[in-house]
Amino acid sequence: MKTFDVPVVYRSPLISAIKKKRKEADRMKKDFAPTLLDFGPVRIYLARHFGFCYGVENAIDIAFRTVAENPGRRIFLLSEMIHNPQVNADLVAAGVRFLQDTKGKAIVPFEELTADDIVLIPAFGTTLAIEQRLNDIGIRTELYNTTCPFVEKVWNRSEGIAQKGYSIVIHGKPKHEETRATFSHASKDAPSVVVEDMKQTIELAKYIRGEKDAAQFYTEFAGQYSQGFDLLRDLQRIGVVNQTTMLASDTQAIADYLKEVMIEKYGLTEANAREHFADTRDTLCYATNDNQTAVSGMLGVDADLAIVVGGYNSSNTSHLVELCEEKLPTYFINEEAKLLSKDTVLHYNFHNGTENVTEGYLPAKQPATILITSGASCPDALVEGIIRRLLTFYPGSKTVEEVTAQFA
Ligand code: SF4
Repeated sequence: MKTFDVPVVYRSPLISAIKKKRKEADRMKKDFAPTLLDFGPVRIYLARHFGFCYGVENAIDIAFRTVAENPGRRIFLLSEMIHNPQVNADLVAAGVRFLQDTKGKAIVPFEELTADDIVLIPAFGTTLAIEQRLNDIGIRTELYNTTCPFVEKVWNRSEGIAQKGYSIVIHGKPKHEETRATFSHASKDAPSVVVEDMKQTIELAKYIRGEKDAAQFYTEFAGQYSQGFDLLRDLQRIGVVNQTTMLASDTQAIADYLKEVMIEKYGLTEANAREHFADTRDTLCYATNDNQTAVSGMLGVDADLAIVVGGYNSSNTSHLVELCEEKLPTYFINEEAKLLSKDTVLHYNFHNGTENVTEGYLPAKQPATILITSGASCPDALVEGIIRRLLTFYPGSKTVEEVTAQFA
């Protein structure tokens, strides 16, 4: 896979050494067991895969290169580059400005832009309408486009399904930049509707079966269906694609459920289900798959707690938290400072969007066993910082340098 020029400040010597060693020993990525870092009084298990993915490294590389190569020009980011506060803050410090917040609300009005400005399209991609608006101003978006190829792959998949006459059901968070971009691209080719989760899918199925009043659909799914969507016409043949960072098992369950609904409604069998349901695999990206599978591998360890590191608005990170929470106490943090002391941690509850303090999060017994992973937009340096902070709570531990040497 291509390598990128990512600022060294985001790298961690410890984690780079581990990843290199693991990769050399397992080039086909078949081993999802975690890596043990035995510091003595605390044993840390790092997931086999975590941290910056292809799309994020690509976006960071292009963004910092654009800043370096264009002194004196105004450079804007359409919205957050990736869902990591440190990376975004570093870009702002380098003089880059945001045009919109993550919900698409204007920060700098488009009217202020000129053809001389540079606008970076983020890794999630953007909508065709925004791209057109920028192009109309004279801004050449194609030159500074960091859209991840794995997101573009979803757009291509939608196009393929559309060409076969299916409408598109997108499993994703309706307000997430990537889902908005995918919805825009899919809608160009076929009637499209977004479902956020299984609960919404079950409601959608009631319209497919004719159990709910069709008029209600347009209120219930407001903002989630394409222009001109005709409930009776456009839900007869469907295919499912998803935001690349959803939980694999959720997308699978939604696709399986909708397939069953179509089989039942049209009296089909597995053999001819394709007449009404496009047979596709999920469109999760390789990083989402690897990171989620690596968490499942890590959860095989009998541990005291898990720490998941990443931006609080990061979809892929929240799914890693969800997986860990099923098994053991899990703390979602975005920087080492959130480990307030050996007794208290300030962590994020993504279910209700609040940060909470928990006391007594570290076990009294030694050695303590802690699982750690991070999202696809989280710099490894942040994870190393968290490991170093944990070690301060365990006097007599080996140093990070001593453990790094084991992986040299
Ligand atoms: S999480 Fe996947 S789709 Fe998103 S930027 Fe990374 S590689 Fe691309």
